[in-house]
Amino acid sequence: MSFADDMDFDLENRMVDTEYTSEDRDTEFSLRPHTLGEYIGQEKAKEILKIYIDAAKLRGDCLDHVLLWGPPGLGKTTLAGIIASELGVNFRVTSGPAIEKQGDLAALLTNLAEGDVLFIDEIHRLSRNIEEILYPAMEDHVLDIIIGKGPAARSIRLPLPRFTLIGATTRQGQLTQPLRDRFGIPLKLELYTHEELAEIVERSAEILEIPITKDGAYEIASRSRGTPRIANRFLKRVRDYAQVKGDGEITKNVAKSALDLLDVDELGLDNIDRRMLETIIKFYDGGPVGLETIAATTGEEAITLEDVYEPYLLQIGFLSRTPRGRCVTRLAYEHLGIPYRPQSSSSGAETQLTLD
Ligand code: ADP
Repeated sequence: MSFADDMDFDLENRMVDTEYTSEDRDTEFSLRPHTLGEYIGQEKAKEILKIYIDAAKLRGDCLDHVLLWGPPGLGKTTLAGIIASELGVNFRVTSGPAIEKQGDLAALLTNLAEGDVLFIDEIHRLSRNIEEILYPAMEDHVLDIIIGKGPAARSIRLPLPRFTLIGATTRQGQLTQPLRDRFGIPLKLELYTHEELAEIVERSAEILEIPITKDGAYEIASRSRGTPRIANRFLKRVRDYAQVKGDGEITKNVAKSALDLLDVDELGLDNIDRRMLETIIKFYDGGPVGLETIAATTGEEAITLEDVYEPYLLQIGFLSRTPRGRCVTRLAYEHLGIPYRPQSSSSGAETQLTLD
């Protein structure tokens, strides 16, 4: 039995889930920024994109293919939509798992208009034989299809309109090299700072007409794990709390009480993060421990741990990656109020100090 079963945790409905959930649906459209100017943060990615978009527009040419990667909820889909609207072209959306047959992709490609943006989310999940259709389409704007079977089969080449492919992935390392090489503009999205998230919260509050103070927005931001999707979700939950328990305005205290009630601590960790760290400390002496072992103990998939939980715990310095596995750092021990113990010298982890 995993500790998730044991502790009766609701892994499906984490408040700090970075993946899109039904809770995000009602406000998804209204909160989504539609121009680069409205898109807060990611300054480097925006600066690079602006140059390439302006250059493409000046030449009357297509934008080169763009690869966006980073953890879920950081704004990859949003940014892809903005690129299409800044270019003034159609935005066609699909995802790796949705393209099952070569014919599915062929149909999508032949229906594009000149200059369109085709967005493929989770592009690392495209199968190899589908990728092969994509290569000539991306490079030479042609579609190679085989008609017929056996000795009578013949290959024909159809011209395609020029288009921009935007691929999004949480796992850049899983893309095949030939596919990765065909993206002229690779952009990594970073977790947001508290200041940037506070700006996003204030913007969303204005759109949803929620009264909020500056420090109320900051309190929500600082618990949102660097992720706009979580910040927007918290904003709506804290609004409910403010309406029921207060006068409707979100102040620092209101935000703090509401998020404490949801068991999201001041760093944005929830029960599952805390239990995960505590499990590594209790059963594996703080690590190093392999991802698969953590996955087996926590009842989560290794991929989910790596994509969804780990980026933030690494970013705030609570976990470190060593060649032999993950280690919980002294900072995390301190946050959890657990006396820090050194790891065994054979562990291969970096040397650490004893506090107790
Ligand atoms: P991803 O595709 O990376 O999972 P999304 O593009 O779906 O993430 O973004 C999740 C939500 O977060 C969006 O609906 C949007 O409201 C909000 N969001 C993301 N990035 C930004 C940003 N830079 N500025 C404002 N809101 C943002």
